Amino acid sequence: MKILVINSGSSSIKYQVLDMESESVLASGLVERIGEPVGNLVTKFHPDTDQENKVTREQRIADHKQGMLAAISLLTDSEVGVIEDASEIGAVGHRVVHGGEDFHEPTVITPEVLEAITANIPLAPLHNPANLDGITVAMDIFADVKQVAVFDTAFHQTMPERAYMYALPYAYYAEDRIRRYGFHGTSHKFIAAETAKLLRKPLAECNLITVHLGNGCSMTAIENGQSVDTSLGMTPLEGLVMGTRSGDVDPAIHTFLHRNKGMDIEEIDAVLNKESGLKGLCGMNDMRDIHDAIAEGNKQAKIALDVQTYRNKKYIGAYMAVLGRVDAIVFTAGIGENDPKVRELSLQGMEVFGIQLDLEANAQRVKQPTCISSKESTIPVFVIPTNEELAIARETLQVVQG
Ligand code: AMP
Repeated sequence: MKILVINSGSSSIKYQVLDMESESVLASGLVERIGEPVGNLVTKFHPDTDQENKVTREQRIADHKQGMLAAISLLTDSEVGVIEDASEIGAVGHRVVHGGEDFHEPTVITPEVLEAITANIPLAPLHNPANLDGITVAMDIFADVKQVAVFDTAFHQTMPERAYMYALPYAYYAEDRIRRYGFHGTSHKFIAAETAKLLRKPLAECNLITVHLGNGCSMTAIENGQSVDTSLGMTPLEGLVMGTRSGDVDPAIHTFLHRNKGMDIEEIDAVLNKESGLKGLCGMNDMRDIHDAIAEGNKQAKIALDVQTYRNKKYIGAYMAVLGRVDAIVFTAGIGENDPKVRELSLQGMEVFGIQLDLEANAQRVKQPTCISSKESTIPVFVIPTNEELAIARETLQVVQG
């Protein structure tokens, strides 16, 4: 079966067509600047193979529907395309950011599901409406095909109350659903399944700490294959230090900024989400630039690296305490997969807990799942590339095949 995976943003649509027999990517593309005077459409056919063929088009793309139709016209193009027509798509998988407490697993989209995603808009005001745009368009174009919503939050719905409740007045939870939800669930679940394969153990018997370090960062404690705690909270702002997001801060800082700097709540929100994290500390949010700057003696860049990796270590320690037995620690995403220094610093001094890196293995850059811990390490440490599109496609296939 061929599956179309859609990740619809407010002004962009990312998509992939996968052949699920071989799990190969037939095409991957991006429609950008929807609604602007000139939009951009990039599709790579047979990406990362000898036959890779990149096609770029610039044209006005008025809305998501036009964007999707433009992408399909490329996908079905008689010269470069990879499908004959839209009917070759057997199912469509949609990334949906917030499923609230309504969705514990990927779900076939029905009118009731659409209503529930809409009802969760207050929890993800930027993301859920954009995801809904993608769904509406795809339901229109692929009317006879099953559409599946795969939620970023679903994997974490197994968290116990003690992990997901904030110590706030209970009514905030009961009336307004203010609680921790967690995100990046599709990635953590995918990594957990891949780790179980490496450990040759059923996932349901694995205790893992999965460390997703990209532009957004999160860590999950997985007990017997289920998420029991995760670092992102009600919104994707809590926890680790991210590219531009602060992660954990004293909530009283908001009041301080308001009282002493006259900032209003919108400004504070923007600073915490867009001007903080690595960028806030040193002006750069790409870890490669930060390493270059450190090499040139930039002190703030060193502080940014230290603050991020120290926070990672604190969370790893906390999740070891949560889990007791840990079968593996796994790094993934842009930084987690590519940055040996961040991995080394995040685990530095943890030999006493049975964690010891093989510095040579850690330094190697490979695209395959790799063990980077030494033989003496009682807890293995892995690097496993995440693949959210494949994860969504696998989940979609599972749902449509019942
Ligand atoms: P992601 O959100 O998973 O796409 O990760 C994006 C982030 O990964 C970028 O902002 C960089 O900080 C980081 N990154 C990508 N490649 C490298 C690399 N080779 N070394 C260090 N960091 C990297």
